[in-house]
Amino acid sequence: MNIVFVASEGVPFAKTGGLADVAGALPRAVADLGHEAALFIPCYRKVWDQGPELVGTGVPLRVPVGAATISGHVFESRIPGSDVPVYLVDQPRYFDRDGFYGHLGHDFEDNCERFVFFQRAVLEAVSALGLRPDVFHCNDWQTGLIPLYLQTLYKDAPGLAGAGSLFTIHNLAYQGLFWHWDVPLTGLSWDYFNHTSLEFHGKLSFMKAGLIHADFLSTVSPTYAEEIQTQRQGAGLDGILRERRADLRGIVNGIDVGSWSPMREPMIAKPYDVETVATGKAACKAWLQEHAGLPVRPDVPLFAQIGRLDPQKGWDLLADVADGLLGLDVQLVVLGTGHPKYHDLLEGLAKRYPDKVWAHLGFSDALAHQIEAGADVFLMPSLFEPCGLNQLYSLAHGTVPVVHATGGLVDTVVDLTPATLADGAATGFVFREPTPAALWEALARVLDAWRDRNAWSKLVHAGMSTDWSWDRSARKYVEVYREIARRKRPHLAQEGAKAAASA
Ligand code: ADP
Repeated sequence: MNIVFVASEGVPFAKTGGLADVAGALPRAVADLGHEAALFIPCYRKVWDQGPELVGTGVPLRVPVGAATISGHVFESRIPGSDVPVYLVDQPRYFDRDGFYGHLGHDFEDNCERFVFFQRAVLEAVSALGLRPDVFHCNDWQTGLIPLYLQTLYKDAPGLAGAGSLFTIHNLAYQGLFWHWDVPLTGLSWDYFNHTSLEFHGKLSFMKAGLIHADFLSTVSPTYAEEIQTQRQGAGLDGILRERRADLRGIVNGIDVGSWSPMREPMIAKPYDVETVATGKAACKAWLQEHAGLPVRPDVPLFAQIGRLDPQKGWDLLADVADGLLGLDVQLVVLGTGHPKYHDLLEGLAKRYPDKVWAHLGFSDALAHQIEAGADVFLMPSLFEPCGLNQLYSLAHGTVPVVHATGGLVDTVVDLTPATLADGAATGFVFREPTPAALWEALARVLDAWRDRNAWSKLVHAGMSTDWSWDRSARKYVEVYREIARRKRPHLAQEGAKAAASA
């Protein structure tokens, strides 16, 4: 199979969240299974500042955006440690900015135009480069028009005829909604601006376009795949998702063990594995406490949180229990940026509890690894969580996750009960209701287990022994790609099956 991935970010070139980790790892995992893969992302300013070296492809872009024709360039690099090409779509007017999607909490006003350009540029470039994909694997709203473009403006473009599309929802809450007067920017006829295609409550919706027009849909955990079909969590799109449930899969993300394994992270104080976690984590914890200016004490449980400071991540629950928790003998380290009200909350806590709380309000990949390695407990009380990566990184680091029973969190963490502890299945703490009382009760259970060194060690070992490497998820994606190819190109799929049978 030949798969072209399209995403709005990808490590190590550009990252704001989990999508980047997926886009930087899944194409390589698919290539490792013997398929051809390539990744397209925008060439943001950050890519030039910190990404790997880029070379020009010489493919000139001339992309229609509304009435204008916008030129651009395609640069090429590789996913590190692989031969998987990464193509970076460059047009400084759209991407030479500090933010990817906005600035100081506000979306860029020309996001529709920017991502129309990106999506059409990808299709033009794939055609010009002669990549001939079987499937375009599109991710989130920034790529939602591609499935429709493949059926309309690009259906006869060289090398694109017959290509299928998979649209993966990483977070249904971000939909790419624009006012209706942006429709002409897309180059699509007004005929598509109706409730069976692009229109969502009078607005232009890129997410809805992907959900309706892609050949197949997926999201990043089985539980989230169910949740988004409910009115409560469907963000207004649950009806469409219910209609398409036969074409919707939930596939849990993997973790890139090359970069998220405590044996292979050059930035942590001491490498460790499941055999050496006691001494390794002790060294990493002492380093983190010192770095954070907190008392260096092995006996105190060190809680951590890393991520976007957003209501989704359960910050209001954490705010409610913070004083209760910090009244106890604990420490808390937070790394994140986002909503100003949570910046204020964390700055306030750090001031009130200088010996217990340290908050780094910024983005630092190195620190994310150092915190995962040094902390004892990872707090992830997300109100909803499509998959979540930090709980997986925590399991890999022997950092025990405390999670709300939602989405990928409930699919990946096994709650500690007497039974799960006895049979070695328990890997963390799961609480059912997103209420301060339920979180508080889970935290009390954490502290009880912390005092029982035997129980704690069992939890740590069980978490570190779980396998969330990408291989398993990549195989599931390949099954989906095959299904799409079977539908789009039945003759080719039959030949492929014959070749596989005779091999
Ligand atoms: P989401 O994609 O909703 O933001 P995930 O848990 O799926 O949440 O993934 C978040 C990813 O972004 C993780 O790799 C996490 O370490 C990283 N991350 C988030 N905020 C920061 C930050 N401030 N500094 C470094 N890494 C961060």
